[in-house]
Amino acid sequence: MAYQALYRQWRPMNFSEMVGQELVVTALRNQVQSGRIAHAYLFCGSRGTGKTSTAKILARAVNCENPQDGDACGECESCRRLQSDSSFDLLEYDAASNSKVDDMREILETVQYPPQFGRYKVYIIDEVHMLSANAFNALLKTLEEPPGHMLFVLATTEPHKVPATILSRCQRYDFGRIPAEKIAGRLREAVAGAGVEATDGALQRIARAAEGGMRDALSILDMCIGYGQTVDEELVRRVLGASDRSFLFRFAEALANEDPATVLALIDELMREGREPAVFAREIAGHLRNLLIAKNCPDEFPRLMELTAEDAAEYIGQAEALSGTRLMSMIDLFMAVDSQLRFAASPRIALESAALHACLRTGEEDTAALVERVAELEKKLAVLQERIASGTVTVQKAEPRQAPAAPREDNKPKPVGDKDMLKIWKDAMGILAKSSPGAFGFLSAGRLADAQNGRFTWEPKENANPFSAEYLRRPEQHAMIEKALAEAAGAECVFVIGERSAAAQPTRPDDGLKEIYETFGAGNVIVQEN
Ligand SMILES: [Zn+2]
Repeated sequence: MAYQALYRQWRPMNFSEMVGQELVVTALRNQVQSGRIAHAYLFCGSRGTGKTSTAKILARAVNCENPQDGDACGECESCRRLQSDSSFDLLEYDAASNSKVDDMREILETVQYPPQFGRYKVYIIDEVHMLSANAFNALLKTLEEPPGHMLFVLATTEPHKVPATILSRCQRYDFGRIPAEKIAGRLREAVAGAGVEATDGALQRIARAAEGGMRDALSILDMCIGYGQTVDEELVRRVLGASDRSFLFRFAEALANEDPATVLALIDELMREGREPAVFAREIAGHLRNLLIAKNCPDEFPRLMELTAEDAAEYIGQAEALSGTRLMSMIDLFMAVDSQLRFAASPRIALESAALHACLRTGEEDTAALVERVAELEKKLAVLQERIASGTVTVQKAEPRQAPAAPREDNKPKPVGDKDMLKIWKDAMGILAKSSPGAFGFLSAGRLADAQNGRFTWEPKENANPFSAEYLRRPEQHAMIEKALAEAAGAECVFVIGERSAAAQPTRPDDGLKEIYETFGAGNVIVQEN
């Protein structure tokens, strides 16, 4: 026997065999049972979600001589004829290849003739949105005066392209993406049927890669089985290669981590698999756009993108690591790859250049990110003020700080009044935000521990990235900070990086201030004795 592709082998033959689409199945079954069949149905949904299979199941059910609970019996004359795909009562067309009006007229001319055998003559038109305007007009005339034996099932991935006049004459059913769990369950059955071994992890991975489409999932499993009798995660990863959606997540994660080494390694992987740089640039731009939408409307996201809740959660999770401004500038970078291809020495270089720029933020983006952060802080401030007013948070007076170390003898600063310290620090931070966003960022992530006589002692936060202090200790950064302080103070200042003293910590009365530090960034808060 010739090998039959899994998705053909596992195509559901009746409503009971359908995986997912419970609402659609229940509604259609009820209609068959009650005999209230419409003349035209519109099945909407992304590819591989079961639109055509359901149309064929419906065709069998409405024609079955002995239906069981609204489902075809599979045994009567009508069922056997319709299952053999040779019945003249079930006609299937792909509008993508029949968009000329003549073809449509020819099809519609046959509508007047009654079914050869069963009760209904069923016309399935796939990708119906591809029909020309004339073809739609011809179809509309038929839908306006449907012969009693006529049943049209129009299937589309893009219902918004179907004219309203057609839509209003159809019963519409939306086919959602099938949850990965359910797809994995069907894959498990297919694996057992094919007599091969597969790990759960491998099936989960296939199910997720198929993004809610059963046909794609079974096709991927088919490819894996082609490689051997044991399907494990490693094999799935190799079969999917860089076309896997998880590759886009890995790539975006490397961008979010500002990790050029990983980004370049991933581009190398793409190239070795013979992928087209420009195509990938569009894919990653699309992925970043999804993240931007996930970030801005997380509640609406699953519906907008027609994603399962678990897939949507993955996007929303990744979006957390990236600011909206950064996402937008990264999208611009990857969208520009196409136009840069003309000037780049090679498409790969254009892609790498965009990816590296996306990794290494420019000062401009940082300023924009800063604006965003300030807006966020303002929101938190409003909340905090409310909470202080309502007494949920109390602000305690600070205990005296530990005594500062003696000023550097070789560089004794001119006296700067203690009163101005807070203002000087704030002004200096403002200067640094423009001149050295890196230093500003790291300083904001720590706290000003002490400020006296022009000597500013800054401490990293608990559990801070050890790199922050190291970065601020670099001579050029250190000089930049002292320069900003001097500019703000109008006098020479000293910047010192303090070590967190373990002994000093327990006595710090910071519990009431903790929230303030966390809200504003400790670097922006100075505790002064009255
Ligand atoms: Zn039957």
